[in-house]
Amino acid sequence: MTGRCFPISLRSSNLRSWWPVEFQRSRNFPPGSTRHFGSIAGKLNSLLTEGTSPAPASLTCADRIVTFRNRQLLIHSGSSGSLHLLIAETDHMRTSATLPLRAHSFRGLSIAGIVLAILTQYLVPVLPAAEADSPAAGSVTISTEFPGGNAATGQNEAGLVQIAPDLRGDNPWFYWYFAATAKQAGRVVFETPAKVAGFKNGGIGFQGPAISTDGGSTWQWMGTENVKDNTFFYDFARAGDVVRFAVTIPYVQSDLKAFLKQHADNPHLKQSELTTSRNGRSVDLLQIGTPGPNVQPVLVTARHHAAETIASYVLEGFLQEAMSDEPAGVAFREKYVLFAVPLVDTDGVAEGDQGKNRKPWDHNRDYKEGSIYPEVQAIMALGEAQNFRFALDFHCPTLVFPDHQVMYFVGAKTHPQHNFQNVTLFAERIKAGLPKTAPHGPLVWLRAEKDASPKSSRFFGFRDDTTLSATLEIPFAPPGRKTDPASCRLYGQIMLKAFVETEFLTGKE
Ligand SMILES: [Zn+2]
Repeated sequence: MTGRCFPISLRSSNLRSWWPVEFQRSRNFPPGSTRHFGSIAGKLNSLLTEGTSPAPASLTCADRIVTFRNRQLLIHSGSSGSLHLLIAETDHMRTSATLPLRAHSFRGLSIAGIVLAILTQYLVPVLPAAEADSPAAGSVTISTEFPGGNAATGQNEAGLVQIAPDLRGDNPWFYWYFAATAKQAGRVVFETPAKVAGFKNGGIGFQGPAISTDGGSTWQWMGTENVKDNTFFYDFARAGDVVRFAVTIPYVQSDLKAFLKQHADNPHLKQSELTTSRNGRSVDLLQIGTPGPNVQPVLVTARHHAAETIASYVLEGFLQEAMSDEPAGVAFREKYVLFAVPLVDTDGVAEGDQGKNRKPWDHNRDYKEGSIYPEVQAIMALGEAQNFRFALDFHCPTLVFPDHQVMYFVGAKTHPQHNFQNVTLFAERIKAGLPKTAPHGPLVWLRAEKDASPKSSRFFGFRDDTTLSATLEIPFAPPGRKTDPASCRLYGQIMLKAFVETEFLTGKE
């Protein structure tokens, strides 16, 4: 086995005690990554030795589940004699590793024994080979001089660049987005702070950073093969290469512009200016459909919090379906007219601000007397003029908090009167339509009204004629679920269909 590259890398995540280690498959050990082994050994050893329940007396490679320290450990053999370890607590949180081991190795061994067998038979022997393959260090310059750009750069030397979210005087959050231009080809490790916005390794999500090699036109999640703890690396092939990295797949004004251009000839879509932002930018207002006596006005908004980019892709799909000639689009426009403010904090989106928890308060805490943001004032005025029956506000939650790896609705249970039932009916329809690869949910986490913070959902929920008012949270990058732009647009289309299909209780019964 000596010299063989072994398919495992490790990312630790001790956000919750029940979720102490996360394994990720990868094709190769990154050369020079010897610390991985020590880390695996340490983590697994502490996982196993801390256990109070007795390890099973024996295990074979038949499929089986054992409970170990309140975690389920699923062990089964793969077709070629591999071992699959699955450590899971809930149906949407799972972590696993596939390890090629001979079946007979495990007979009569405890879990600790198996892990030790893995460590001793496979991990240790590859160390010298991994060290021998260490790549040359590259070096880069960092830029954030483009829409959405954000990074505070610390140490920048050959092979290592320290990057942190640039908070610009606001409260801690996790958004960063930069371009790296190679001065010298080779490997560069990008290191985010060990703790970000209160979370260990909180500067990188569960699908790794987002990456674009075409100047921000197209993006993908990079995956976690090159991620270790609070760092990720990239191998620059040649000097002059420019690669953009971001904590999430960005969505800025030019993305909205491209979407609107694509639908410029659509007769159902009207574009106008909602207002002018504090920094002089035009804030877009879209209308789909035509107001009329039996047509109910619907408000959709996104980016009250500038960094919550994934929500924008879902909103695009929602708008696209609403203006389409598909049956759902036609049916939607018979019953509804839609008003959309896709980039509420247009300045924050362009300038790459965190947006969430902005000082003195953020856009979604501004629905009140003494409002300070012209966009919010304009939305409240639009509410007066249009008397919205529905208000749906698209957001993304935190990046790595385990409970936030699902789609979920929040808002006030009984404001409007039947909000809980209506959101539940809507959520059920959405769930029925979503593909299996979509994030889990949407779950309905509406609460009794205690929190009087002046949010959009509360503002519209307390108006007399409202039928539904809620915030929909779309996770950034849940493990194993798709949140790339195309998938998110599809989710949005499904949500519009679900909206049309739902028979809402109007509150007048
Ligand atoms: Zn938000």
